[in-house]
Amino acid sequence: MKRVLILGATGSIGTQALDVVARSEGELEVVGLSADRSADALIALARTHSVGRIALTDPDAAARAAEGWTDGEVLAGADGLVRLIAESGADLVLNAIVGSAGLGPTVVALTEGIDVALANKESLVVGGELVTTLAEATGAALLPVDSEHSAMHHLLTGEPAGTLERLVITASGGPFRGMTRAELGGVTVEQALKHPTWAMGGKITIDSATLMNKGLEVIEAHHLFGTPYDRIDVVVHPQSIVHALVQLCDGSTLAHMGRPDMRVAIGYALHHPDRAVLPLEPLDLATHTQLTFEAPDEQAFPCLRLARQAAKEGGTAPAVLNAANEVAVHSFLNGKLTFNGIADVIEATLDELGGTAVHSFETLYAVDADARDLASERIQVLA
Ligand code: NAD
Ligand code: MG
Repeated sequence: MKRVLILGATGSIGTQALDVVARSEGELEVVGLSADRSADALIALARTHSVGRIALTDPDAAARAAEGWTDGEVLAGADGLVRLIAESGADLVLNAIVGSAGLGPTVVALTEGIDVALANKESLVVGGELVTTLAEATGAALLPVDSEHSAMHHLLTGEPAGTLERLVITASGGPFRGMTRAELGGVTVEQALKHPTWAMGGKITIDSATLMNKGLEVIEAHHLFGTPYDRIDVVVHPQSIVHALVQLCDGSTLAHMGRPDMRVAIGYALHHPDRAVLPLEPLDLATHTQLTFEAPDEQAFPCLRLARQAAKEGGTAPAVLNAANEVAVHSFLNGKLTFNGIADVIEATLDELGGTAVHSFETLYAVDADARDLASERIQVLA
C-alpha cells in the first residue's frame, strides 16, 4: 500500500485524485489533506476518505475547522502545512496547490526525500534548477501530473539517453482560438472560463485562454526532461486527443493519445510504476475523424512569447513572469483588468524587473513578492 498526502485536496485536481484513490482497491491510502480556506469542503473530504489529519493555510478557516471537526487534527497556517508534509510519513505527496504558493510545499516534500506527484507546475516555473537539483540530491522522484508532461514521461520512459530530438506539447487553443488581438479586447470573464475541452480550476482556465498555460508548460518541460528550449515546440490541437509528441533521432515521432480526462495523468503519477485501473471509455478514433494541428498565434496571444522570453532570459525572470501572471489573472477574474491587459501587465513587469541570478529559494520568494507588488501597481494605473 502506498501512503499518499494530497495538497490542494478541494480543487479540481485534488478531488479527481481522491476519486483515483477511491478506485485503487486499497493500493493507495490517504494520510492527510490540505486546502487554503475551504474548511467545510475539506472536512467533508476527510470524513469521506477517513483521513485523520488536515491542514488549512488560512488561520481563520483552520480555527473554524477545529471547532467543527473533532474526529481528527487540524493544522493551521503555512507552518501547519509544513508539519503536515514533514510528519506525514507519506511515500508520495501530490501537490495540487495552485500558484507559486505551491513551491514551498514542493521544497519541503523533496527535502524530506518524499516523491512528489507534481500538478503545481508553478513550482518548476519559479523554482527551476533549484527544485530539480534538490530532488536529485535527496533521491526523491518528481512525477508530472500535467497531462502533456505525463504523456511525455510515458513516451520517454525506457528511451536511452541522447535519442530525443524534440518535445512537442499540444495546446487546445482555448475558447478564443482564431480571434485577433483586437477581437480579444472585448471578451468577458464568463467567456474566458468556458474551456472547450477541459474542466479545471479558474486560474489555469484563464491561463489556457491566454496561452500562458503553454508558456508555463514549456518551462516545466525544460526542467522535468532537461531539454533545451529551442527543442520544445507548441502545436495547437483543438480536439485535445493527442497530449504530447516526442521526436527521436531515427525520424520516428511518438504520440500519446487519450480522452481529455485528468484522472489518467493523476493515476499514472499516483500508481507509478504500476498502472491505475480507471473506468474510462476507450478512445474510438473512428468517432474522432478530425484531429487537426496548427501553429499558435503569438500576435493574438503574446503570453506564449513572453514566457519564452522569460525562459531564455533565465535566472529570476520566469519567477517574475509567473508572479505578474498570477496577479493579472486574479484581477481579470475580479473584473479589474481586461483580457488583453493580462499580457500588458506581465510584459511591463518583466521589462522593469528583468532576470537576475538565483542564489537560493529566498531569492525566489523575494522576487515573487516584488513582482506581485509591481504588477499590482501597474493594474491600478491601468484601472
Ligand atoms: P483549483 O483552484 O481547483 O484548486 C486549488 C487548490 O489549492 C485548492 O484546494 C485550494 O484550497 C488550494 N490553494 C489555493 N491557494 C492556496 C494557497 N495559497 N496555499 C495553499 N493551498 C492553496 O486548482 P486546480 O485547477 O486543481 O489546479 C491545481 C494545480 O494543478 C495548478 O498548478 C494547475 O496549473 C495544475 N493543473 C491543473 C489541471 C486541471 O485540470 N485542473 C491540469 C494540469 C495542471
Ligand atoms: Mg497541461
